Amino acid sequence: MIVGIGQDSHRFLKERTDKKFVIGAVSFDDVPGLDANSDGDVILHAICNAITSISGVPILGGVANEMCIDGITDSKAYVEKALKTLNQTIVHVALSVEAKQPRMQSRSDEIRQSVASILDLKLSQVGLTFTSGDELTDFGKGLGLQCLCILTAQ
Ligand SMILES: [Zn+2]
Repeated sequence: MIVGIGQDSHRFLKERTDKKFVIGAVSFDDVPGLDANSDGDVILHAICNAITSISGVPILGGVANEMCIDGITDSKAYVEKALKTLNQTIVHVALSVEAKQPRMQSRSDEIRQSVASILDLKLSQVGLTFTSGDELTDFGKGLGLQCLCILTAQ
């Protein structure tokens, strides 16, 4: 067994644009998009970083940057690249999101299912929790959001 850890965070755009907010490749209409060169999907980016922490191959800040320059901003493509660098099989992915907004709890299973299908896992292999952050951090104040990922592989 081997355990990887990854984190990612992004700030909301100051104004609403055509850019949609996405998390775990699921979109929400009630908040602005994220300030990032890519779609700013914090769940998929945290997963990429967790994979890198096992494989040693930089995806974000590496391969993904080059893909972004080529106009590929869908973070699912970065996860696909990351998965190709992993010699192990993913057993479980635990995700913890800190955000004041949007309200994601009611769509938790939809996000879990989306992540499970991207990683070719069962729903039971993707754990997801949310915390409001109690206004203690910029995430808790609603300026952006962050995701932590612990990925177990064998
Ligand atoms: Zn990111």
